[in-house]
Parts: sequence; C-alpha cells; structure tokens
Amino acid sequence: MDRETLRSLSASRRNHAEEEAPVTKKVKWTCEFCAHDFVHERVFMKHVCKERLRIEELRGPIGQAAYIYYTDWMRLNKRSVPPIETFASSSYYLAFVKFANHVKRVNMPNPTGFVRAMVENGNIQPSLWCRDNVYAMYLQGYDKVVSPTKQFLDSMDLVYEYSKEFEVEPQQVFAEIGVTKILDLVQKRKLSPWFLVSSGAFRRFMSNCNELDADLLERGVQVGAMIMRIQQSKENTKLFMEFSQATKELNL
Ligand SMILES: [Zn+2]
Repeated sequence: MDRETLRSLSASRRNHAEEEAPVTKKVKWTCEFCAHDFVHERVFMKHVCKERLRIEELRGPIGQAAYIYYTDWMRLNKRSVPPIETFASSSYYLAFVKFANHVKRVNMPNPTGFVRAMVENGNIQPSLWCRDNVYAMYLQGYDKVVSPTKQFLDSMDLVYEYSKEFEVEPQQVFAEIGVTKILDLVQKRKLSPWFLVSSGAFRRFMSNCNELDADLLERGVQVGAMIMRIQQSKENTKLFMEFSQATKELNL
C-alpha cells in the first residue's frame, strides 16, 4: 500500500467516524455553590471552591458562632440582619470567623458584651477586634465595674481556699488545679489577670508548663493585653507594683 492510498483511507475513516458519532445532548454538572458548569463528572467530583468551603465552615461551630456575633453587631448598629447565606458573602465574613476563633482561644467570658463595647466605643471595626490593645481597652471597662484591687484580693482569697481544700501550699495551687481549671476560673472572672500577672508563683508555674499549656495560658489570661494595660497609665503601673509586692510578701 503506497502512502497516497493510506492517506485517503484514513481520511475516509475519519469522515465516516464523524458521521457515525451519536448525537448526544451534552450533560453538565453544576456546582451549587459557585454555579460553575462541568462537562466531566469526575472533574466535578474533585471540584472544591471557596464558596463551598465557606458554606461548610458556616455550618460548623465556628461559622455558627461567627454568624451570631455578626447578628449581634448588625442589631447594635440598628441594621436588619441578613440570612446566613448572605453573611457568607459579606465583606465582614473573614473578620467574624477570625473573631469567633479568637473568642474560643481566649475563652472570652462574654463575647456579646465585647461586641457591644466595640460598638459603644466609637464603633471599632471587626477586623481590629482580635488585637491586644483592643482587648485591653475592653478589660478596662470591666475594671470600672469591679476595681482591680477587688479583683486581686478576691483571686488571692480563692487561691487560699484551694490551698486549704487540697492541703497544699498556696503557691502550689496552680499545679494542683491544672491549666484547664485555671482557664475556666479566668473565664468566670474568679481568677483575675491582675492577680495572675502579679504572681511570681503563677509565672513560675507557667514557665514549667509544656509549650502547648503555656500558650493556652498566655492567650486565656491575655497576658499581652494585661501588660499593655499595666503600661497604659501611671495608675495601672502603680497598682501592678503594689500587687507584685503583696504576692511577694506572701511568697505567692
Ligand atoms: Zn463550586
């Protein structure tokens, strides 16, 4: 068979194949989240888009919490609250998810109160809510309700109560009750950061913790925000010195 015959043969086979091809209606798969169409099912099955991830995140605990804080914030701003699907495409979405993670990480006692404080203090934007200086400002609001001295003394009393209950020295109370309990007490505002940051025993306990626990404590007690607060005013610095002196005298 010469080259010419071969060429014409294969050309005719090609034409034939084209004629014979069954006319099928093109099926397509559409992503319900981003509305993208797919010709191949297998490609569609592998498809993941940011819209879908967002909706999945929204259905999880962090997403649900983020939506609740968002609705609090919208109401406080006297806006109507959009449905959760609209929230997913809000430009504030990421800020609120970040805030919801932050609330969980630092065991924030009253997130709704925090959102309210943000709105009432010159409407601080959600993207700034996780910053130490913003939290320091919020804690200052709490100091107006319960004075740092009362917070400090109440915390000290609690440590002495535990010391009696567990029959250990007061400075051993932290190791005795453990990180989870400490964080719980901080969240319930029974152990004040004013006391913890002033206490040498607590600082020693923290430095003996493993990295994970030390990190949990640092976030939960908001050590960064606390230090900022101590430096914020002469009055606060004086209080801190006074508290540090008191814990030192008690070897706490
Ligand atoms: Zn998609």
